[in-house]
Formats: sequence, C-alpha cells, structure tokens
Amino acid sequence: MSDCIFCKIVEGELPSKKVYEDNEVVAFYDIEPAAPIHVLIIPKKHFASLNEATDEDWAVIGQVQKAAQQIAQELGVAESGYRVVTNCGANAGQIVHHLHYHFLAGAKLAPLGVAN
Ligand code: AMP
Ligand code: ZN
Repeated sequence: MSDCIFCKIVEGELPSKKVYEDNEVVAFYDIEPAAPIHVLIIPKKHFASLNEATDEDWAVIGQVQKAAQQIAQELGVAESGYRVVTNCGANAGQIVHHLHYHFLAGAKLAPLGVAN
C-alpha cells in the first residue's frame, strides 16, 4: 500500500532500526518505546490487522512468533521475560493499519487490562 508507513519501512523508503529480517518478516525498534525494549514485528505483506488475515497468512503469522522467539534470545530477554501483542481495531488502540506485533521487554510490564 503506497500510503502505509510500515510498507515504506519494508521497502526502505522510510528509515528504521532493524533487529530482524527474513523473506517474509521484518522487525524494527518502535520510535516511541513503551518499554526499555520495544520492537515491532511485521509481515512484509500488507494487511491491516488480524481481522483481514486470510488462510494464506497464518504461516507468516507463525513466522512472526518464531521471529519473536529469536529476538528474545538475541536481545537477552528470553529468560527475564517479554510480551508479544497485537492491537486490532479502535478499542485496542490500533493506529497503524498494517498488521504488527509489539515485542515488549526489559522491565516488569504493567498487567493487561482496561484503560483508566
Ligand atoms: P498501534 O497502536 O498498535 O497501531 O502501534 C503503532 C506503533 O507504531 C506505535 O507504537 C508507534 O510508536 C509505532 N510507529 C509509528 N511510526 C513508526 C515508525 N516510523 N517507526 C517505528 N515505529 C513507528
Ligand atoms: Zn502496509
């Protein structure tokens, strides 16, 4: 998608600090980190969210999880712990409409729940 910032990152048209890349998946540091380590893991293929995933996309979503395991090991947080989460839609606070998984680590994270 021509107006998608994450597609532009995939294409190298926007800068990013990459931590992982393979044929289907790329991961890069979030520009507004919500934790000491905050990485976004995305499929290179554009689709807006989990809602738009089709049967052909489950494999790459598995690849995202596999990338998370590898990133955790490479960044040294596999033992201390990390969270992988995707925001889908307005109530979840999704802003960028290219499927992405937040990888959060480096401190004890707040419990999941409802906003104040
Ligand atoms: P979400 O609310 O799940 O859609 O999260 C979108 C995330 O993308 C936010 O955490 C932003 O800080 C992050 N973000 C937006 N633009 C960029 C960018 N150019 N490079 C890295 N992260 C970005
Ligand atoms: Zn996109």
